[in-house]
Amino acid sequence: MGRDPRYDILFEPIAIGPVTARNRFYQVPHCNGMGYRYPRATAAMRAMKAEGGWSVVCTEECEIHPSGDVSPHVEARLWDDRDIPIQAAMAAAVHEHGALAGVELAHNGLSAGNLYSREVPLAPSHNVVLGSQRDPVQARAMDRSDIRAFRRWHREAALRARRAGFDIVYVYAGHNLTLPMHFLSRRFNRRTDEYGGSLENRVRLLRELIEETKEAVGDTCAVAVRFAVDELLGASGIECEGEGREVVEILAELPDLWDVNLSEWDNDSQTSRFAKEGYQEPFVAFVKRITSKPVVGVGRFTSPDAMVGQVRRGVLDFIGAARPSIADPFLPKKVEEGRLEDIRECIGCNICVSGDFRHVPIRCTQNPTMGEEWRRGWHPERIAPKRTDDAVLVVGAGPAGLECARALGRRGYPVTLAEARQDLGGRVTDESGLPGLAEWARVRDYREQQLLQLPSVEVYRASRMTASDVLELGAARVVLAVGSRWRRDGVGHEQSEPIPIGAGARVFTPEDIVARGAVPGPVLVFDDDHYYLGGVIAQMLRDRGLDVTLVTPAVQVSHWTHNTMEQYRVQSRLMTSGVHIVVRHNLVGIEDGSVRLECGYTHRAVIRACESVVLVTSRLPEEDLYQDLQASQVALDRAGIRTVDRIGDCLAPSTIAAAVYAGHRYAQCLDEPQCEGGGFRREMPGLDNFSA
Ligand code: ADP
Ligand code: SF4
Repeated sequence: MGRDPRYDILFEPIAIGPVTARNRFYQVPHCNGMGYRYPRATAAMRAMKAEGGWSVVCTEECEIHPSGDVSPHVEARLWDDRDIPIQAAMAAAVHEHGALAGVELAHNGLSAGNLYSREVPLAPSHNVVLGSQRDPVQARAMDRSDIRAFRRWHREAALRARRAGFDIVYVYAGHNLTLPMHFLSRRFNRRTDEYGGSLENRVRLLRELIEETKEAVGDTCAVAVRFAVDELLGASGIECEGEGREVVEILAELPDLWDVNLSEWDNDSQTSRFAKEGYQEPFVAFVKRITSKPVVGVGRFTSPDAMVGQVRRGVLDFIGAARPSIADPFLPKKVEEGRLEDIRECIGCNICVSGDFRHVPIRCTQNPTMGEEWRRGWHPERIAPKRTDDAVLVVGAGPAGLECARALGRRGYPVTLAEARQDLGGRVTDESGLPGLAEWARVRDYREQQLLQLPSVEVYRASRMTASDVLELGAARVVLAVGSRWRRDGVGHEQSEPIPIGAGARVFTPEDIVARGAVPGPVLVFDDDHYYLGGVIAQMLRDRGLDVTLVTPAVQVSHWTHNTMEQYRVQSRLMTSGVHIVVRHNLVGIEDGSVRLECGYTHRAVIRACESVVLVTSRLPEEDLYQDLQASQVALDRAGIRTVDRIGDCLAPSTIAAAVYAGHRYAQCLDEPQCEGGGFRREMPGLDNFSA
């Protein structure tokens, strides 16, 4: 089936200065936790997007000088000529598939603590270094010679970028991260010279950088500006109705392309819990009315109709994507080939972001091959054919079982997928019914849809398997993906022993809440899990009118969601909706009608009245079926069962991303000798001897 003519407009070539993009699908710069440390992995990941049809594929932010070193984050680097071969490998890999390669040159100014280089950080005016770590470090005010030096570094980096083969060179004034943005900002620029004061003066540095980059490389490379048109800070920040608009008016025709978004990164890449597809339109729509240059913007676009709407309504020329291109590097190809049902839609969970935040390679909930392209040779759309005719029984159709059956089916193995419930999806089905998590159902929906296309996979719903059922079926390979259950005894991160629970106390787990919807109030939610679920359940119970207290041993609620850039929004929404929040307290006893809390600092006890307690602490794997099967090797042999494996939460409970990965890995590795030992290729690049 070919492309639907409705989407033809998305495949028009667009000129960007001296270069031309083959269509309107544009992978904007995005971090990935690999950068200079794993350059082959980065190049292979970017190449996959080019192969999947994106017309422009950009780097992550690319440091131009040791004085703008964002360690411990791992980004791209063009500090000097020795970095060129590393970046050239990425550009060449992208070119191989007919896409343009873009590089986002960045000097992180007062957002760079320079923890590796130990240079003194630079800023328009004296200022503390920004960042969630609140490093006890200050940046010094740049004098005119510093500004001249910075402009020279930027120009030299642009020349290196061209030598590396890039087609698009960015000047980056976004995400509150870089010197040109810090100079623009009234909060950070308190200068009294020609670079401070009026907007005309504060924009001077950005203008000079654009002009100098164009002068240096503009004859062959397009010069793009990435600019945050609004910081969502009201009058104290850049606003799209105020200085954001004025900056675009002042510089309108100067760059070859405007890449516009919101600042900071947590506003730009909001999760589906807090923002829906296209959420940036009200902020960026003005840009195209001011400039004749092409405009790219983002908004977690996964629907081709929404994309066409953006173009037809004159909001954007290019459909920018970071996360949708991570979840499905082949999204453009699928639209082109009329295979919309094959699109693996981003669920907006920001697990991808957590890789960069934790300084490890990117992972994606929807796309288990993300970050594995080079080291494991995994491809998001292709997988090796089966090596044997072994039949496989997959028990449990949560994210692990669904992905396992899907990928095995793609290999051609005969697969039986048995699920106890009528609905597939396991925890994803349960959790996607909770407030804000509806898009998480895409993990199930994509796989359920794919299974329909796989002739060798048979799905049995409402089929709870016992050990004798498994033996009777006698598949050579048995994979258990039967999940986990939340603990009822309160053991979690802080609490290593079961919490004493008195007679008559009403204690519930998240599964109880999903099943019942509500419990008698007042209710106390004890979150010793620290990811999303405690906060989501507290929110849901509060939305149902209950008096809710959320208690956590951490210093803030849903502490780990800092890594998905949601923590601020989670806590502010809970507080504004009237949930009482008690931080840095442990739950040490539960009685009928009250709980005993203990302060994490003073260990002083506090008694608090409540009718119900919800324990969101940790989970136990479902092990019964595995143990029943292990009970008799003779029975397994007699049934012809050669292997019994566990994957996902029933082996060790973890994230949905980990469950999908476990399912995929089983399928990739079945009968594949190179997988033995779980090995993957390692890279430790040297600057002076790098070759792709
Ligand atoms: P994971 O995240 O590891 O995929 P889930 O808890 O999401 O785990 O999914 C496990 C699935 O396994 C659930 O849908 C559950 O109904 C199913 N399941 C559990 N035990 C059995 C069984 N004995 N037979 C069939 N399905 C089962
Ligand atoms: Fe989307 Fe989540 Fe994948 Fe990131 S990790 S691309 S947010 S599905």
